[in-house]
Amino acid sequence: MSDSPPDFNLAVCNLASGSKGNSTYISDGETAILIDAGLSGVELQRRLTSRGLRPENLDAIIVTHEHSDHIKGVGILSRRFKLPVYISGKTRSAGPQLGNLAEIRSFECGTKFKIRNLTIHPFSISHDAEDPTGFTIGQNGTTMAIATDLGIATAMVKEHLKHCALLILEANHDPRMLETGPYPWPLKQRIQSRVGHLSNSDSKKLLHELQHANLQHVILAHLSEINNTPQKAFEEVAQALTRCNAELTVADQYTCGPVIYLK
Ligand SMILES: [Zn+2]
Ligand SMILES: [Zn+2]
Repeated sequence: MSDSPPDFNLAVCNLASGSKGNSTYISDGETAILIDAGLSGVELQRRLTSRGLRPENLDAIIVTHEHSDHIKGVGILSRRFKLPVYISGKTRSAGPQLGNLAEIRSFECGTKFKIRNLTIHPFSISHDAEDPTGFTIGQNGTTMAIATDLGIATAMVKEHLKHCALLILEANHDPRMLETGPYPWPLKQRIQSRVGHLSNSDSKKLLHELQHANLQHVILAHLSEINNTPQKAFEEVAQALTRCNAELTVADQYTCGPVIYLK
């Protein structure tokens, strides 16, 4: 990060988002982690490099859940760069396709842990995986959160997302596009269920509740390519931001986003 501002607490870059692969880079300038690595190792390295971020400087990978769009590149990156993988015991058991990992460090939802100066707080989310997890990541008083792949935002989830400077929130589908779209009925039901994915309107409601004066940035993530458009997600969720000046952006499946610096 050669052209980074001199004083920041966290740098965040979404590398990929959607059902074909998810990964987010987070660093405080000294420690660098990935939340999920759901593209091939080569492609994730390419995306990091394209933003001036060095794959060989990564310190760890944290896994949210065992679905392949979140773990595809975990094994290869862990072995290639000797990265410890932070993963819950249940997710590890449910994801044998992870293969060999350089090192496994188990966490439990509800129990904070540190990776050097980063404080990671995992919390349970409602999704059809073994032990799906959202995270807050804090450093020097600045906290960000990531919560994608959730059917509903429980009171506990809201509690975790409440005071963050940056939120990565799911805006998976436009309910009308899903309803009238090509997916078979059981899949439509799964997506809309309590263990599925948040819609644009769910995300709008959630953000309306969560916004606060110090919210700096919101990244909408895990958009469906079939049942949503970036424009629909943006226009709907932007209506929620009535009490803060947070910047709203939409994460993409095929290109990585900008590096966002938080003070
Ligand atoms: Zn997913
Ligand atoms: Zn999932």
